[in-house]
Amino acid sequence: MRVFTAGLQSETNTFAPWPTGERAFAEGGMRRGGDVLRGSAPDYQTAQRWRDLCVRDGNDFVAGLFAWAQPSGPIIQSVYEAMRDEILAALREQGPFDMVLLFLHGAMVSTGCDDCETDLVQRVREIVGPSAAIGVELDPHCHLTQALVDVADAIVLMKQYPHDDYLERGEDLYEICLAKARGEVRPTSALFDCRMVGFYRTTQEPMASLVAGFRAAEQQPGVLSVSFAHGFPWGDTPNTGSRVLVITDGDADLAARLAETIGREIYDAREALLPRFPTVETALSQALETRGLVVLADTADNAGGGAPGDNTSLLRAMLDRCVTSAALGAIWDPISALACADAGVGATLRLRIGGKSGPASAEPLDVVATVRAVRERHSQAGLGTSRSGMGLSVWIEVAGIDVVLISIRTQVFSPDAFTGLGIVLADKKMVAVKSSQHFQTGFAPIAARIIPVATQGAIQMDFATLPYVEKSDLNYFPRVADPLA
Ligand SMILES: [Zn+2]
Repeated sequence: MRVFTAGLQSETNTFAPWPTGERAFAEGGMRRGGDVLRGSAPDYQTAQRWRDLCVRDGNDFVAGLFAWAQPSGPIIQSVYEAMRDEILAALREQGPFDMVLLFLHGAMVSTGCDDCETDLVQRVREIVGPSAAIGVELDPHCHLTQALVDVADAIVLMKQYPHDDYLERGEDLYEICLAKARGEVRPTSALFDCRMVGFYRTTQEPMASLVAGFRAAEQQPGVLSVSFAHGFPWGDTPNTGSRVLVITDGDADLAARLAETIGREIYDAREALLPRFPTVETALSQALETRGLVVLADTADNAGGGAPGDNTSLLRAMLDRCVTSAALGAIWDPISALACADAGVGATLRLRIGGKSGPASAEPLDVVATVRAVRERHSQAGLGTSRSGMGLSVWIEVAGIDVVLISIRTQVFSPDAFTGLGIVLADKKMVAVKSSQHFQTGFAPIAARIIPVATQGAIQMDFATLPYVEKSDLNYFPRVADPLA
């Protein structure tokens, strides 16, 4: 067997003010061929796992382009097309292939295409023909379309959020596609539309038990895979929403029945699944009343969902409340980071931090800051065993709060975003992180309490009022109480 692999990922926030261009992919990561096998990001690790499985099975492994960009607005069309066409050219020139495995996101929108993944996979199909097995691994925050299900042989989504299971799902996909290529199974997919828009934390109930149910359903005879597409609420496309995908071995009825059964279980839990986070004021009061370290999540300013990462509201509220023994990170502010780095450790200077990217960033904050540490190429533990670069980063102290400023826009995944600069978290009262959910893996072990906060910013959790223009079906929960009735 000959196996071709490629990756193209970004989670487009169509409400974000800036497009995603070439520099965003250059900064995020672009590797090709053998170079992919030396990278540590989740997409490269997945390619490495596929390579290992190919070696095990005596299959030829070929890697095309693997590219990822921190999300922002729609990808500039020429940038998308250049990457797409590079993947297709490699596929054409190095073929023929029996299997194609693609590590995509599922919520990629370009300025000329609202469903880049389907566009790419349809072109892949034209090249490899109907008999090759095409497998796609997706992030659960995807707009899973019937068109993509129709053109791929198998689609497998990460089940967990935080997405720590990307390697296991890559293995699932490989095994299904290999069995299909060998003629041992006939992957048959069904999609059920839950008519929901939501934010589903698999670390919490009732979602944790629902995910356990997906795994149990995969043990049924004839069932190859069960996935839940959470959807990406901040991507306004015709197909935005939550869906269940079931793959069986040749049994279309079973796939459809099981997808609906699981979809209705999720639907029945829809009220309990709605995120209900406290306001900033309430969250700060709760944190101050709690013994031990409290982790506050600035859920609305998560760069991983396309937010700018320089919103100042939470820091301003902490300063207004005279909170001390606290840390906050990471504010994306390369200009201030440069100024602090030049001023040097120990310098005290007046700074205007954050609030620069657009209306979702709130107002810039004028502070007197003391520079405590400077690190040229700071990084933190990312998803799984990957690392996430933060670039030139500084620790500044502002009125008793240790603040991290970074130069590469990213959410906070892990405590070493702070401790890597020398900040001690153990003796803190509270630490505020710019992230919606991925921080849970790293911070849960050190937190006495975690409080996701209903902050103001680019990622609002009030799904009933998101200003959709492109989404074709507005009959969805929570905009409508019982849309499946
Ligand atoms: Zn995701």
